[in-house]
Amino acid sequence: MIQLHDKTFVPFISEKSIATAVKKLAQEIADDIKGEIPLFIGVLNGAFMVVSDLMKVYPGDCEVSFVKMASYKGTTTTGKVSELIGINENLEGRTVILIEDIVDTGNTLEFLHNIFSQQKIKTLKTATLFFKPEAYRKDLKIDYKGIEIPNKFIVGYGLDYDGLGRNLPEVYQLKN
Ligand code: 5GP
Ligand code: MG
Repeated sequence: MIQLHDKTFVPFISEKSIATAVKKLAQEIADDIKGEIPLFIGVLNGAFMVVSDLMKVYPGDCEVSFVKMASYKGTTTTGKVSELIGINENLEGRTVILIEDIVDTGNTLEFLHNIFSQQKIKTLKTATLFFKPEAYRKDLKIDYKGIEIPNKFIVGYGLDYDGLGRNLPEVYQLKN
């Protein structure tokens, strides 16, 4: 068990299971886009760790960039999404893979997908390491999903609770 601020978390997904899922994601993407050089666009802050690990096991050339927006406070989603910062490069003709740490309601991913859809991207795909099927409220198809989890708040491996927990190499779940 660990304590972050006022809350207690229990071990949920091991470092090894995460590594396996990340490797599988990388392979799935590579098999799917065959020969294209992907531009991975990670959504900060949470996705920094999965993007880093995914690139290291990606079986081929790849590029990386990051975007940032804020939509989440504490343990419940606010349901509103704000402004996007960080994309300056020309995405025309590129194969872009948007990478999220976790997709919950899908608000963030849908917002990002809409913005990127307005550009002349050759192929736009979406990937997330963690996915909460019970919480997802969108029609947008997620192309690559790592691990499906129940609708409970998690921390670790890039994910935080009010700033803390991102550095944990494994994932913890909020204790009941
Ligand atoms: P959505 O827009 O899909 O509702 O939420 C997406 C964002 O909310 C994620 O990128 C992440 O930052 C945050 N989020 C959603 N679920 C969790 C969770 O269980 N734990 C943490 N730490 N963040 C979450
Ligand atoms: Mg995120």
